[in-house]
Amino acid sequence: MAAYPSVNWWPGNLRPYESRLSFVARFCALNGINVRKCAEFLSVEPDSSTPLPIDEIRRLASVLGETAPLVEDVFSPSIRFIDVGRYGPPPDSRERHAIRYCETCVQHGYHSYLHQLGWLSRCPFHLSELKTTWAQKHTARLVSQRVGALEFVMRQRCRTWPHGIDAGFPAREQGRVASLAGWVARASVAAARMSLGEIWSSGNDGMPGAVSLDQAFNQLRTLEPPPEDIEQLLIEAGDRWTLQSHAFARQAKIQLGHLRLCHLSFADVLHFYIRINAASANPSSFVTRLNAIQDRQARHGTCRCRWRLTKEGRLSRWVSVRPEEGPRWGLICPYDIALNELQLGWGRSDLALSNRPAEQERRRFCSVSHAMRDLGLIRYTRDAAVAPAGYLYADQDVWTCCEWVRESALTAVLDMAVAWETELTFNALTTWLDDIDRGVDPLERDDSKFCIRLCETDDGLLLIKWMRAEANVRRGQSRI
Ligand SMILES: [Zn+2]
Ligand SMILES: [Zn+2]
Repeated sequence: MAAYPSVNWWPGNLRPYESRLSFVARFCALNGINVRKCAEFLSVEPDSSTPLPIDEIRRLASVLGETAPLVEDVFSPSIRFIDVGRYGPPPDSRERHAIRYCETCVQHGYHSYLHQLGWLSRCPFHLSELKTTWAQKHTARLVSQRVGALEFVMRQRCRTWPHGIDAGFPAREQGRVASLAGWVARASVAAARMSLGEIWSSGNDGMPGAVSLDQAFNQLRTLEPPPEDIEQLLIEAGDRWTLQSHAFARQAKIQLGHLRLCHLSFADVLHFYIRINAASANPSSFVTRLNAIQDRQARHGTCRCRWRLTKEGRLSRWVSVRPEEGPRWGLICPYDIALNELQLGWGRSDLALSNRPAEQERRRFCSVSHAMRDLGLIRYTRDAAVAPAGYLYADQDVWTCCEWVRESALTAVLDMAVAWETELTFNALTTWLDDIDRGVDPLERDDSKFCIRLCETDDGLLLIKWMRAEANVRRGQSRI
């Protein structure tokens, strides 16, 4: 302690589950310093949710004269989903200027990191609905704006803030909070177990962005149903999710291991498998389904869509149009967008791409085909032009030169992965087109992410499919 200047802080002043923001606001107010000085003095990010390493916790405990467990509780919150891989809720889905708080807690001069969690709708101490205050935008850094906004709320509602705060509040032995902590810990373990050995998930090269809070939270709920006593704290987020899985024998896992030695991931193999089928005279069933959907485009007839896409250079944007105007040059109908997406994802993408990317696609296919042939996963068709070294010449329709060896152990895994993924994509596109027909903004597109996953297990491979319970209902209404 001697190495530090004395500070206006005393043991036990830090509160259980207190937010870092609240601590910083009080520390600044008690010591008459601003947020920047506070951050410099304590060497901590004032508004980060990144947990501090244990050495930092010990150092802070010594500066503040607090116990390490209490400091850890604030700077490395115990109630959070840990090591859950892609099952975690998005890291920071809240609006950057919003601070959620509980009215009763604030009257006690208290603010908790629990109030900031997007998947809680009520204060776990009081069951009251959470309120939101907004940081006033000005020239200071955002963190100072946020600390200022919390301080303003505190000073308005709690006359003694930052002094004279009820040290016994909140009690650590809160039954509901303990129950919440227990559930989060169990859900974390369940999600960690589910993502163990995960080597691939769908939707990684399609639509960018993180998984939505609705999806992540409801999947966690499915993996570990929350106890009844905390049910009312949680947000009522969207649809329920269900899970289906299929195990494949060891042989498929061994084959994937061989591919990995050739620097080919499951994603590479899947991409190759889709292209080979799209060009094949005797393709897998997903191609038949794709063709049926594309054929039905005729049913769209004269375009009466209320939204069309317009492209200006590299930028594109949706514009609202009068349906009776019909097609207009430069405005792309959503159905064409959907068909193009299907073609790029599952069909002969080389035909839908412009010259350069199509050429890249050809080279990629060619180089993967070398390894595939060496491993006995493909053979060449009779008409294929093959170099003396045994590889395809690149200046031909390489896609039609290869034939998948269906007897390989990987075929069943690939077939199921493609069938599941295409089903999800078709459903998502149908929902999107239906919504556009109803006048919904095309940007409001909620494709779920990472729904199909492949994990390596001790015994072989496990393919997992996550489904929105609602999607089952919609399946019968396919329109495209
Ligand atoms: Zn409260
Ligand atoms: Zn249209």
